[in-house]
Parts: sequence; C-alpha cells; structure tokens
Amino acid sequence: MNTPALRTCPCCGGPAEHSVLLRQADPAAVEQIKCAWCGLSLQADVSTHAELADLWNTRVTDTLLRDAIPSLRMLTSLFREQGLPASTETGLLQRILDHLGEAP
Ligand SMILES: [Zn+2]
Repeated sequence: MNTPALRTCPCCGGPAEHSVLLRQADPAAVEQIKCAWCGLSLQADVSTHAELADLWNTRVTDTLLRDAIPSLRMLTSLFREQGLPASTETGLLQRILDHLGEAP
C-alpha cells in the first residue's frame, strides 16, 4: 500500500510531520502525525502508516462536498437537456471534483 502524501493541517495550514513515539511504559511504538506549526496531532492504533495518513487526510468538508456531487451532476445534466446555461453549477461541480482529486 502506498503511503498517501500528508495534507496540510486542517486548523492552521501548517506542514504535517510523521513520527514514531516510543513510550517508556509501553514497549509498542505509537505512530503520530503532528502539525509543525500549531501542534495539532493525531495518534491512532492503526497497523500501517498509510492508515494513519488516511485518517489525518480525511476532512468532514470532503464528505459534505462528495455528498453534493450527485445533485450537481443532476442539475448540470437537466440544464444541458433544456439548453439552459449552467455555468455556475458546472463550475462549482468542477471545483469540487478538482478539490477531491476525482475524475469528472
Ligand atoms: Zn496546525
């Protein structure tokens, strides 16, 4: 599994850094992703760094935007069928797809 690139911090936009923490009381290492600017951090009991990176990279706004895609697709196709301009909806749909890195 490829490790996804870490997105910037959702709070301040700072760079995220991956580290492995060693705890005295627990011989198991814990992986952490932490913002270099504000200190926001994520530690999770996951089996791979890629899973932790996926958790760090997940944004609630992405889920909301993803939920809007079917409605925007329906609107743009309705407008197209009616021969009406749908530049606002088409532009919004394209910006959402670009943001999410998804194909049109
Ligand atoms: Zn931050």
